[in-house]
Amino acid sequence: MSHTGRCYCGEIEYEFDDPIHAQLLCHCRECRYLSGGSSNTSIVISEDKFRITKGTPGTFKRDDIEKPRIRHFCCKCGTHIFVKSPPRPGMLVLKIGTLDDHSWFKPSSAIYCIDQQPFHLIPDNIPSFKKTPSS
Ligand SMILES: [Zn+2]
Ligand SMILES: [Zn+2]
Repeated sequence: MSHTGRCYCGEIEYEFDDPIHAQLLCHCRECRYLSGGSSNTSIVISEDKFRITKGTPGTFKRDDIEKPRIRHFCCKCGTHIFVKSPPRPGMLVLKIGTLDDHSWFKPSSAIYCIDQQPFHLIPDNIPSFKKTPSS
């Protein structure tokens, strides 16, 4: 299946094909800066199935931490679209809010629950991890 999405202002558009490797709720401190405060809702997709179809995203990475994530966003409206994460080579972590249709999102796990805030609600029926399943 193909999916399409865009930033808030429409300067950046993208599309990608399945598979979707994971559907995540992340509660880490970093994600809260980028989500606005709630858990971060993202999916993990294959980088080679992803295409920017309009515009050129800007990138940002911190230079004061080891193996920083590379964040891709719209330079005009600031919408954060996807992340390249060194622990996930060949993958992109995409914010579901930028998908034209994200009504199908169904979290498969909750991660970094060690940082969970009292107002973060995690569905009962999904596995949750202090950090990640592998740590
Ligand atoms: Zn934009
Ligand atoms: Zn996070």
